[in-house]
Amino acid sequence: MKSINDILRVLEKQEKWQEQPFQRLLKCWAEVVGPVVATNTRPLSIQRDVLSVATSSAAWAQNLTFGRTSLLLKLNKKLPAPLVDIRFSTAGWQNPSVERKQQQTVSPHDHPSYLGDEISRPGATPTKDVNTAFGNWTKIMRSRSHNLPLCPQCQSPTPPGELQRWQVCSVCAAKQFVKQNS
Ligand SMILES: [Zn+2]
Repeated sequence: MKSINDILRVLEKQEKWQEQPFQRLLKCWAEVVGPVVATNTRPLSIQRDVLSVATSSAAWAQNLTFGRTSLLLKLNKKLPAPLVDIRFSTAGWQNPSVERKQQQTVSPHDHPSYLGDEISRPGATPTKDVNTAFGNWTKIMRSRSHNLPLCPQCQSPTPPGELQRWQVCSVCAAKQFVKQNS
């Protein structure tokens, strides 16, 4: 009987094998298209033997689309599985890592401690002492908290978002976290 580890190893190999054509393509792309085209294009993926390539402008997409047959011939000499077509488009040209960063940016409204725009976060008085900073923040938060539910652990007014997320206030949640990790 095969162990789960054996099966996982086989799956892992298959996965590597499947991504290989695109890795191979990336390696030979600049060489096949030349340095000028290479700087204005970025291969994105191979799906059903169709290569998607992002271009820096619509004009590049158009020119390369016209010349794609000879490009296909050159590429297919280097690839383990032949491509049937190439699609050029300006979509996806923007740096994907920048896009990812923008998506990850969390609005302060989404933070469980968010109470409203009139309450600013501490930080006006920078201090290197974490405990002092934390104490200041706690004071600020508590002095500004009105008509809020109470934390079941320390009985201080707590933003509902914090109770929803941690069942206690952020201060108690942080203390628990520190205890767990020390
Ligand atoms: Zn608490």
